[in-house]
Amino acid sequence: MRIDLHTHSRASDGTQSPAELVRAAAAAGLDVVALTDHDTAEGWAEAARTAEETGVGLVRGMEISTRHDGRGVHLLAYLPDPTHPPLLAELERILEGRSSRLPAMLARLRELGVDIDEDDVRRVAGDAVATGRPHVADALVDLGVVADRTEAFRRFLSAGRPAYANRYAAPLEKMLRIVGDAGGVSVIAHPWGRHGRQEPSEATLAELTEAGLSGLEVDHQDHDASARERLRGIARNLDLVVTGSSDHHGSGKVDHELGCNTTAPEEFARLVDLARLAAARSGRSTPEVVGA
Ligand code: AMP
Ligand code: FE
Ligand code: FE
Ligand code: ZN
Repeated sequence: MRIDLHTHSRASDGTQSPAELVRAAAAAGLDVVALTDHDTAEGWAEAARTAEETGVGLVRGMEISTRHDGRGVHLLAYLPDPTHPPLLAELERILEGRSSRLPAMLARLRELGVDIDEDDVRRVAGDAVATGRPHVADALVDLGVVADRTEAFRRFLSAGRPAYANRYAAPLEKMLRIVGDAGGVSVIAHPWGRHGRQEPSEATLAELTEAGLSGLEVDHQDHDASARERLRGIARNLDLVVTGSSDHHGSGKVDHELGCNTTAPEEFARLVDLARLAAARSGRSTPEVVGA
């Protein structure tokens, strides 16, 4: 069983349509794939149709932009009812923050002498619901300013770089509650990714577990071997589910090929059991795993 629990489509900042993504998962020999676009369930229906055609198991999820102790935390929510009103309201607020941040980033790029406007971004973003910095990066590639997304982030778009602008993210503990009330389960994506610090600490993760957290994404390309080992220990201490994923973005992120990290079948089974419990407790109508 090969299970990859975190991928993106063109509904957010991946480069494949949801159907293409699910077909690619089948071609890569995955048994189960989770579609977890940033802050939207927009790709779910198309992905579910293709999963039924191809026989790949599909977990419908999303990667929600949250904030805790002043830091951004990406929260993977699996199998929630996306129509739960408090969840919808927060997602709308996050998406609105994404849209209204675009003009600010483009204005900063123009101050730096780059001739770019919203049409350039719209052209590359297509029908994405959740627009983000990767789309600005794609526009910069399209205009010949940079060679790829990586260079765009390094020169302009990463936090601290000159075209970076902040945006709204939901309070993490509030979102843990909302996801549970929506009948879903919460896993922190790449908890120690990118910034290089081993934070949130075990003490903080213990508090978050009390607040409703169910798992940690341990096996992720942003974690080196020692981070994975320490996170696995913390998950064991706190009885959290351990997941692994590619965080695939199509051709938008190098070294994140489908199945490059996977989730153990017994951990996946625990996650699905927790989702069933949450769904029953919530009384909401939640999605099933397609093909389960
Ligand atoms: P945003 O959602 O607009 O804040 O942009 C953050 C997203 O950009 C992340 O979820 C990644 O998908 C992507 N990203 C961040 N850093 C890089 C990078 N160096 N190269 C490519 N994509 C990146
Ligand atoms: Fe992304
Ligand atoms: Fe992420
Ligand atoms: Zn992701």
